[in-house]
Amino acid sequence: MRIGIYGGTFGPVHNGHLRAAMTFLQVCKPDRLYILPTAIPPHKAASALDTPSHRLEMLRLAFSEPEYADDRITVSDYEQTRGGKSYTVLTLEHFRTESDDVTLLCGTDMFLTLADWYRGGDILRMASVCCLCREGNAEERTRAVQKAEEYRARYNTRIHLPSFEPLPVSSTEIRRRIAAGEDTSGLMPACVRAYIDANGLYRIS
Ligand code: ATP
Repeated sequence: MRIGIYGGTFGPVHNGHLRAAMTFLQVCKPDRLYILPTAIPPHKAASALDTPSHRLEMLRLAFSEPEYADDRITVSDYEQTRGGKSYTVLTLEHFRTESDDVTLLCGTDMFLTLADWYRGGDILRMASVCCLCREGNAEERTRAVQKAEEYRARYNTRIHLPSFEPLPVSSTEIRRRIAAGEDTSGLMPACVRAYIDANGLYRIS
């Protein structure tokens, strides 16, 4: 059985995340894809304007939309239940009890720094990696290809760099728009925006 792991802060989930998950299903054809919002992100400050359970709920809403619903996808509270810093290596060790064929899905920004994460070498020895380019320009692609060569040579990691129609949106930009009362259509599902507004999230950037 092939398992995909897609972790992140998802504060909030946006269409870039959703497109990445759909592309991963098409290209890597996993039997299961776990979407894992962090408890405490190890690499950056979480927004004070949401909570782990809101981030989880927004993911559940997004992946219930007909466009994104898929039986292979599970939005999992595993990292949030485990608590503490959401170290990817611990998540991989947990899910490897289900299968030793695990692929980590991430965007280029995360991919380029993977070896520097907590026990990054273990991550790159334990899992394959699927990297999707966020910006879609030649420079980003070149850096990802060079990094893939480095990981292959050093850790024998299987790397996928599929072509991906980029959607250069970020949670940071979404939070900014919400705080400014701006439109987010085309950048995130309407049901997620409605949830944000109903719960008063991200009102101050
Ligand atoms: P922030 O702006 O708060 O830093 P973010 O938009 O980068 O957030 P994360 O939750 O940190 O979102 O990202 C989770 C994963 O999704 C990471 O691997 C990241 O690289 C990837 N990702 C985020 N946005 C995109 C995008 N637009 N296209 C492809 N991958 C993305």
